[in-house]
Amino acid sequence: MNFFIKTYGCQMNVNDSEKMQHILENKGLTITRDEGSADIVIINSCAVREKPQDKIFSYAGRLPKDKIIIVAGCVAQAEKEKILERNPNINYIVGTHQYYQIDGIVDEILETRNRKTGIKVQFIRQWQEAIPGIDARTSHVSGYISIMEGCNNFCSYCIVPFARGREKHRPFEKIMEEAAYLAEKGYKEIILLGQNVNNWEDKERNMKFTDLLDVMAQRIDVKWIRFITSYPGYYDNELIAVMAKHRKIARNIHFPAQSGSTRILKKMNRIYTRGQYLDIIRRFKKRIPDITFSSDFIVGYPGETGNDFKLTLSLVKKVEYENIFSFIYSPRKHTRAFKMEDKLSLEVKKQRLYELQELQRKIQLKNNKALAGSTVEVLITGKNPKKPGDVIGRTVSYRVVNFKSGTGAGEFTRVLIEHVGPYSLRGREVPGRLSGNSN
Ligand code: SAH
Ligand code: SF4
Repeated sequence: MNFFIKTYGCQMNVNDSEKMQHILENKGLTITRDEGSADIVIINSCAVREKPQDKIFSYAGRLPKDKIIIVAGCVAQAEKEKILERNPNINYIVGTHQYYQIDGIVDEILETRNRKTGIKVQFIRQWQEAIPGIDARTSHVSGYISIMEGCNNFCSYCIVPFARGREKHRPFEKIMEEAAYLAEKGYKEIILLGQNVNNWEDKERNMKFTDLLDVMAQRIDVKWIRFITSYPGYYDNELIAVMAKHRKIARNIHFPAQSGSTRILKKMNRIYTRGQYLDIIRRFKKRIPDITFSSDFIVGYPGETGNDFKLTLSLVKKVEYENIFSFIYSPRKHTRAFKMEDKLSLEVKKQRLYELQELQRKIQLKNNKALAGSTVEVLITGKNPKKPGDVIGRTVSYRVVNFKSGTGAGEFTRVLIEHVGPYSLRGREVPGRLSGNSN
């Protein structure tokens, strides 16, 4: 029996898909590279905006009728049985907290062959350990580790608390076990995952996220430890201290601001004001001068005026992010903002998105130009599929670097930057010593 997994959305979904793959492979099923040859197609869905949500329905609609189609992930959890009504091709739905039971669910499906059996979408309150050491990983360079799931923040626009439930924190030992396993397997960087990572804690051990980082940086033999996503303002002093202490913790933070206007931030139910956000950034930069930031922004939030939007542009100019992800506001059912009046035309929203992305492009080009002629340290993440002989690497601040190399994925090397664009750098490998990770 063959299966195929189509994954939409964030890195946590990718990680959950890898776990499902591992479980099903252990059960004797075989993963296939294309849906055409699969008996079972699992769609791991994303509900965060309307577009990715719609994609799963058009994708499922295109699949041949003889396939068993399982929808897992966030749309499954948030929409439940409604999914089956919307698309008769879909056979089963599996919630965000049931993916680790996918083997039993597949058994149930194969036994009964009935539509709508195996529907499991209820939330569970505690962290569920999927399986120790997951081998079905797409990357053999960057090891992702889920450390928490869910969110208690209820930002007014966001479906995550309805799709992933309340926060559940993975116990310290389990995280360390997986980290040690990955380091032993030769992974070069560890990326801790969660919707709100800096709120992680292990109550029994009286440990906060920054304690976890501290212990991990001391004990786990990898070059970089990263984490995504952090909420601006949770334990920032402790985070500054632990990042200043260990170079192993990559000096790059994804700190989604969402807007530069305090008025809009209040409406979004974010806990910081524009001034507080900028103050957090300033304090990080003061103590760790080489730190860099990235962010997410929503434009066209209900009630966003031209002036609010200007404040977002000016925030972006002030912080000079390495990279931003920007989105037009997408109304999501279940959320508070869903009922807010949304008067702005799509034209205006698109124009604002364009302006924001143009500004960021200019900032990135300027910052990349400043790197021309210098040598940067790069982790090779893989071959460039479009250019034979070329590899793609990432700097500590996550900038993309293209170059030719005799070595492959997982190697650290030095690259002299010769050409720059807004979204990537190009150069040639040069000999020389790599920096250590000593504190
Ligand atoms: N936990 C993270 C974000 C998770 S969702 C955080 O708090 O930052 C990823 C990004 O999607 C968000 O940062 C936000 O910018 C965007 N997003 C979430 N809901 C959205 C919506 N309804 N419309 C448009 N963008 C949205
Ligand atoms: Fe969504 Fe806000 Fe939680 Fe992020 S912090 S997942 S945006 S509710």
